[in-house]
Amino acid sequence: MLAARYHGIGQVRVEHLPQPECGSGQALVKVAYAGICGSDLHIFRKGMFVSTIPEVMGHEFSGVVEQVGPGVTTLQPGDQVVGDPRVSCGICPWCRTGAYNLCPALGFIGEVRPGCFAEYLVLEANKLIKIPAAVELRRAALVEPLAVALHIAGQGRLALAEHLGIVGAGPIGILTVLVARALGVKRITVIDIAAERLALAGRLGATILQTFPGGQGDQPDVVVEAVGVEATLAGALGWLKPRGRLVMAGLYEERVDIDPNDIVVKELELVGVSAYETGDLHRAVELIAGSKMDVEQIVTHVLPLASAPKGFAILASGDKKAGKILLTPKEKGEENGPGR
Ligand SMILES: [Zn+2]
Ligand SMILES: [Zn+2]
Repeated sequence: MLAARYHGIGQVRVEHLPQPECGSGQALVKVAYAGICGSDLHIFRKGMFVSTIPEVMGHEFSGVVEQVGPGVTTLQPGDQVVGDPRVSCGICPWCRTGAYNLCPALGFIGEVRPGCFAEYLVLEANKLIKIPAAVELRRAALVEPLAVALHIAGQGRLALAEHLGIVGAGPIGILTVLVARALGVKRITVIDIAAERLALAGRLGATILQTFPGGQGDQPDVVVEAVGVEATLAGALGWLKPRGRLVMAGLYEERVDIDPNDIVVKELELVGVSAYETGDLHRAVELIAGSKMDVEQIVTHVLPLASAPKGFAILASGDKKAGKILLTPKEKGEENGPGR
């Protein structure tokens, strides 16, 4: 089968590998669509998270069950599925209460075991979630990033925001706009340096800005930081209103130098957000299957799996015109204009 493997910083190669076999309690899934995530870029640029090299990348996918191993009764061939890509120890106090995202040993498929940038992958049946047959697989591939936005909304108590600031108009920032709107948040301001990305946030009714506003005028009471660099973190701290809440959703590639006095003198509250809980994944499946929430707006490219290196090149380039890039093992891919 075809698969895209990480071979070291800046190196993603498309190769032919043996098709994986499913053991007891597992299922073999034929991948339909797989999304390139911000964390895949952290791997590509910095070599973060990966435990063995080479490794098949990717953790966001939709697909169809091809075969089930002995003992699997919850799935059958032909079922449409998405996956819970979290790989955790299973025995720590966090895992025992189901809070796998807080497991100290947390990893993801595509990092600590083979991922979904491949024609097939094998996963434990209890890590696969069925999707109704009527749901398009292309839409279903967005369950995982939508679960991140739902976890941001829950942890960050976004429903209580009067004026929500979102820093970063990438896929997670845009999905957070959609979720916040659905929760009834009326005022949303989105900041990003890239005009193309901002335009989409603007079409969703958010006020858009390319730089942090100065002064004490119109400060948000809640800001979601979805970038993860020094300038955006410092900007977010400075932007928030006193007693405001900073929801930290971006992962950092470098250490940052900020002025902690912004937190002290304004009595800010800081909330970290890591991945999602199982309930967020199920809620995302419900929203994708049962609502009209237009999550597909974040998809700017659907590339054939064989073009995975091109997908990484587009996302790693400085112009930030791309949103979510989906890979498909289908030969052709489906070109998609920005912002569709
Ligand atoms: Zn992801
Ligand atoms: Zn654990």
